[in-house]
Amino acid sequence: MGDGIEITAEKLVEPTVKKACHMNVKDDEVIKLVGISMKEISLKVIDRVAFWLSQEENNILYCRLCNKGPFTKKGLYLHLLRLHRDEIKYMLSEEIKLEVKKVI
Ligand SMILES: [Zn+2]
Repeated sequence: MGDGIEITAEKLVEPTVKKACHMNVKDDEVIKLVGISMKEISLKVIDRVAFWLSQEENNILYCRLCNKGPFTKKGLYLHLLRLHRDEIKYMLSEEIKLEVKKVI
């Protein structure tokens, strides 16, 4: 189970970053990554973690993890993936653990 969570967290890094940058994340995309059985949990977790990654002020995006900015959508997307991938993966795996516990 522990390994499964790690793998799922890794897969969800990209859609979470997209969401944080106000890019469109389709349900299908998430299902393709983690499978239909993990869809509900994944969408919840993506929303929750994405909220902690970015901040918007007057239509300008800032990184909430290190307060850098302003960024364009694309700029923040690259920044989060390059600099904060491990943190984001860790946050995702913690949230997935919480959700999985609720189900069991
Ligand atoms: Zn940052």
